[in-house]
Amino acid sequence: MNMNKINVTSDNIFPIIKKFLYSDQEIFLRELVSNAIDAIVKLQTLIKLENLSDIIDDDFKVKIIVDNFNKTLHILDNGIGMTKEEVDKYINQIAFSGAEEFIQKYKNISKTDSSHNPTTNIIGHFGLGFYSSFMVANKVSIFTQSYKKMAPSIFWSCKGDPNFIMNEIEKRDRGTEIILYLNNEENKEFLEYDRILKLLKKYCKFMPITISLSSKSKENDKEKEIIINNINPAWKKNPFQLNDKNYLDFYHELYPNQLENPLFWVHLNIDHPFHLTGILYFPKIEKRIDVVQKDKIHLYQNQVYITDNLEGIVPDFLSLLRGVIDSIDIPLNVSRSHLQSDTSVKNISKYITRKVADKLDFMFRKNRDNFQKKWDSFKIIIEYGMISTQNFFEKAINFFIFSTIDKSFFTLKELREKIKETQKNKEGKIVFIYSSDQKKQYSFIKEAIDRQYVVLIFDSPLSVHLIQKLELSYQDICFVRVDSDHIDNLIDFKKKEKPHSELSEQEKKILKNLIQHHIIEDMNFSIQLEDLSKKDYPFLIIIPEFLRRIKEMNSTTIEKDIVGKNKYYQLIVNTNHIFMKKILKETSEEKRKEFIQEVLNLTLLSKDLLHGKKLTDFISKRLKDLIKNKN
Ligand code: ADP
Repeated sequence: MNMNKINVTSDNIFPIIKKFLYSDQEIFLRELVSNAIDAIVKLQTLIKLENLSDIIDDDFKVKIIVDNFNKTLHILDNGIGMTKEEVDKYINQIAFSGAEEFIQKYKNISKTDSSHNPTTNIIGHFGLGFYSSFMVANKVSIFTQSYKKMAPSIFWSCKGDPNFIMNEIEKRDRGTEIILYLNNEENKEFLEYDRILKLLKKYCKFMPITISLSSKSKENDKEKEIIINNINPAWKKNPFQLNDKNYLDFYHELYPNQLENPLFWVHLNIDHPFHLTGILYFPKIEKRIDVVQKDKIHLYQNQVYITDNLEGIVPDFLSLLRGVIDSIDIPLNVSRSHLQSDTSVKNISKYITRKVADKLDFMFRKNRDNFQKKWDSFKIIIEYGMISTQNFFEKAINFFIFSTIDKSFFTLKELREKIKETQKNKEGKIVFIYSSDQKKQYSFIKEAIDRQYVVLIFDSPLSVHLIQKLELSYQDICFVRVDSDHIDNLIDFKKKEKPHSELSEQEKKILKNLIQHHIIEDMNFSIQLEDLSKKDYPFLIIIPEFLRRIKEMNSTTIEKDIVGKNKYYQLIVNTNHIFMKKILKETSEEKRKEFIQEVLNLTLLSKDLLHGKKLTDFISKRLKDLIKNKN
């Protein structure tokens, strides 16, 4: 046996490899299976290019065998194999990537036929490659026979130090077998069939050559072989070959634990200026953006699973989608911040965003009813996209749905058209009245509807941010929440005639002081007197739009201060209500206090719970009784 030394610049490379990303140790299997697949793809390419018809072999396959008896893990392929010189070059010279060289050599071939261009089909490039096996194995051996029949079969073995053995051996079948010796306590997990199956399902589920798994626990034991991958996943197919069922089946193949169907999907397919294929699915999300998302988009490179952390690769809002993106043009092993400034990543991100927006636009135009029906289940993704990604906002505004309390649906353009005459304020802005909670704002909504106003529903956690964004983007519109002022003031129309007032200025002053005096201090109300209709309630509690928005937008201390200094709730006192005269006339302080307190209680009741006629009637009756002095 010949003992040799591996040609590396530092003797210490193995400890480094062994320690490399401890948590990612498992990727050794992805690397070895990828090499095996590459070896087969290379051979298939050569068969075509060099007319090697005599070795056309229909049964190209990668086999994984877990041998518990001998404590070894085997990865076999019937691919291109290696000559002695190749083992020396590709295995002994660590830094030298054969895949890289192969691509260089064949780069210019088959330009006319991109499907046969080997550069699009070879995995490689991962950097760690074959040597990652030393992260888990205490010894690695290779048996290999090149497709060049004259070349002798080669045996190579290394114990994870710079010394290795390399010999010619008795002739074997074409291809390569890698054997990992796993006889340490720390690495025995990789002798568990279930663990290996799980890893293969994670990394190799859609690799392009058949992969089988079998296990051995006794000598001469032969267990059933199972195929673990689908070599032709939906995203690699032409969209014209796929129907809805195919897309749904693929979704469930990708996420076996997802029981619910996605709402719709986008098939991505581009060759220039970068390669990218994939399918993105819109899952149903209802107001639950914060829920930790388990099933994320998977990033693949040539059908090899890489990661499901797409931070920096796609805009954040798209991370709410599911599915697969497969692109060799996304650089790996670079920092996330570097990724974001990478031009091809930027282009990829823009392309995906555009495709998603185009698809939504198409769905909207093709079948608006269906789009509207599903709207609530995905609008949060659209809102998130509109707030965070300008390109997306510009497209999405054409299909963003404004839904109303009475279940009508408008685009921005339609809505503007509908209310531009009836809801224009004195500055010429169209006022969009919205509700964030139909139950709590019931009484306000009712009044607005009675006035023939259109009341929109903006009830998602992102609504306030989207409103802000819309107002910034369109100078001619503004939003007010339905409970942010008395109905008369909700839309600030041109100055009306000064309303009639039942009270003199002097009386108003006294009234304000009395109410202030009797309302419990910590209720945090500011009081505002207004000459409203006699029929209106004596009191009205509102939250001014400005203060509420600051509070909702942010929770930083600065904003807290603004909100803190200003009283959050405003109590509007209707000076024209008959009850006010009664308070003014009342001489007993105690009674006055009682009155005010009860009317305030009734007001609070009306604000939050007024969604039944019975309650409305009760409050009206109680008010009348109070005025008539019945207790
Ligand atoms: P990479 O795959 O990134 O090129 P590796 O260290 O994994 O780097 O492998 C180095 C080279 O060794 C490969 O490019 C290939 O030429 C050769 N090689 C590795 N595994 C096999 C195999 N199973 N069959 C044939 N050649 C192989």
